[in-house]
Amino acid sequence: MRRIYSVFFFVLFVVLLFATDFRHLKGYETSLFLEISPLTFLASLLSSFTVYKGIVLSLLVIIPTVFLGRFFCSWICPMGILNQWISHIFNKRKNVDHNKINSYRSFFAFKYYLLTFLIVLAAFGSLQSGLFDPISLLTRSFTVSLYPAINHTAFTMYLKQPIFSGGMIITLIFISLMFANRFLTRFWCRALCPLGALLGVLSIYSPLRIFRDTKKCNDCRKCLKYCHGACEPHSELRQSECHLCMTCIEECPEGALHYGLKTQQSSEHLPIDVSRRRIIETAVASAVLFPMMRSAVNARTLDTESVIRPPGSIPEGDFLRRCIKCGECMRVCPTNVLQPALLEAGLEGLWSPVLINKIGYCEHNCVLCGHVCPTGAIVPLTVEKKIKTKIGTAFYNRGRCLPWAMNIECIVCEEVCPTSPKAIWFQNVELTMRDGSTKTLKRPFIDTKHCIGCGICQNKCPVHDSPAVYVTSIGETRSKTNQMILKGS
Ligand code: SF4
Ligand code: SF4
Ligand code: SF4
Repeated sequence: MRRIYSVFFFVLFVVLLFATDFRHLKGYETSLFLEISPLTFLASLLSSFTVYKGIVLSLLVIIPTVFLGRFFCSWICPMGILNQWISHIFNKRKNVDHNKINSYRSFFAFKYYLLTFLIVLAAFGSLQSGLFDPISLLTRSFTVSLYPAINHTAFTMYLKQPIFSGGMIITLIFISLMFANRFLTRFWCRALCPLGALLGVLSIYSPLRIFRDTKKCNDCRKCLKYCHGACEPHSELRQSECHLCMTCIEECPEGALHYGLKTQQSSEHLPIDVSRRRIIETAVASAVLFPMMRSAVNARTLDTESVIRPPGSIPEGDFLRRCIKCGECMRVCPTNVLQPALLEAGLEGLWSPVLINKIGYCEHNCVLCGHVCPTGAIVPLTVEKKIKTKIGTAFYNRGRCLPWAMNIECIVCEEVCPTSPKAIWFQNVELTMRDGSTKTLKRPFIDTKHCIGCGICQNKCPVHDSPAVYVTSIGETRSKTNQMILKGS
C-alpha cells in the first residue's frame, strides 16, 4: 500500500514540475507540494506574520501528523521517497549489515538544531527555510540540474536548452546528498532534514503509533532490516524518528509489532534525542548571527543595480521574508531570464530569483512567475498591469554603442523595444566622416518614463560580450527609494 502511494506522490511531483512550463500550464496546482510543506507554513508565518493563500494546505499535513505520526516522510515527501529508492539500490549488496546501517546515531539530532536555527532566523524576519526545506530543495535541484540535463538529451523539459548561473553549486549539493545514501540509508532524512525534525516534534505525542508487544518479541531484530527512520522498533522506539513506513510490521515473524493505540504489553517510547542546552546555544548563536547578516551590505540595506526582481515582486525586505528560493519562477520563465542569485542580493538572498538580461529578457505579455510563486513573493499580475510595471531602467554605454562610438548605423534596440510608445527614440545627427563625406545617423536615447526595464534591448544588442545598452534596477515600481531624483525624458 505504502509503495503505491509513494510512487503516486513522487510521479505527481515530477509531473506537476514538468507541467510548470508555459506550454503545459493550464491552471494546474503546480505548486502543490511547496504549499503543503509545514516548514514553509511555520517559517513564513514567523517571518512575515502572514500565510499566503495556498500555504494553508499544509494544515492537511500538520493536523494528521499530530494524531497519526510522521506519515509524510515515507508516504508523500518526494525527497524522502527518492532517498529511499536510491538507498535501496545502494544497499542491495550482499555484504551490507542492515542492522548496523539502520541503527540510530547520535548525530541524527543535528536536524533539530538546524530547525532551531531556521526558526530563530524566521522569527527575526529572515526566511532561510527554503534552503533546507526538502520540497524547495528538490524543486530547485530538478529545475536547475536534472530537468536541464534531461532536456539536453530529450528536448522535452524546456523549449530551448536553459542555462543557470551558479547552477553547478546546486547540482553538486544535490548529487552529494543523493550519494550520501551510499553510506547511510536516507542520510538526508535521518540527519539533516529540518522538515522531518518539525514533523518529529509534531508527532511526539501522537496517540497512534507503532508499538512492540514485549511478550511476543524475541529480539531477532528482523524489524530493523528495512526500517526507514532508524527509529529502533526492536527496543524503545524513537517516535520522533519513525517515518511510519510499516516495514517493521511486515518483517516481524512473531507479529509483535502493531500500529495503533497502546496496549498493556506495549514497550515504552523514547523522547526526542536533543539536549535542551544545545537548543538554547543554537538559538542564541542564530540570534547573534542575524544582526551580522543584516549589517552586511545587501539589496535590502542598499539599492543594488544588479538585483532586478521579476515583475510583481513585493518590496525587497518583504520579498526576502517570503521567497523560499524554490525556483518555481525559474522553471516557468519562458526566456530563462530568471536566475538563482549568488551573493548579489546578499547572503539572505542566496538563490532567490534575479533577472540576468544577458541570458534572457522579460517577455512583454508574460505574467507566469507571479502565478506559480507559492508564497506571494511575486504577486500575480494581469497583463494590463504587468506591462505598466517597471522592474528597472535601461541605460546606454555610449563608449560601446555602435552609432555613438563608431558612427555605425544600428537600430536593433529600438526595433525590439515592446512598449507603446517605444521607450527608445532617435535623434538624427549630421556627421562628417573620415573621408570627408557626410552622413545622417540615428543615435538612440532612452525615455525613462516609458522604459519598464524588460531587458530585451540588452539581450538583443549586437555588442554581445558587454552590451551597449543595459538595465539596472533603478526606477522599479516596487521601491520607494530606488528612484532617480531628477527625471528627464
Ligand atoms: S513575467 Fe518575465 S520574468 Fe516572469 S516568467 Fe514571464 S518572462 Fe519570466
Ligand atoms: S519568488 Fe520564485 S523562488 Fe521565490 S518563492 Fe516565489 S517562485 Fe519560489
Ligand atoms: S528595457 Fe529596453 S526594450 Fe525594455 S522597455 Fe526599456 S528600453 Fe525598451
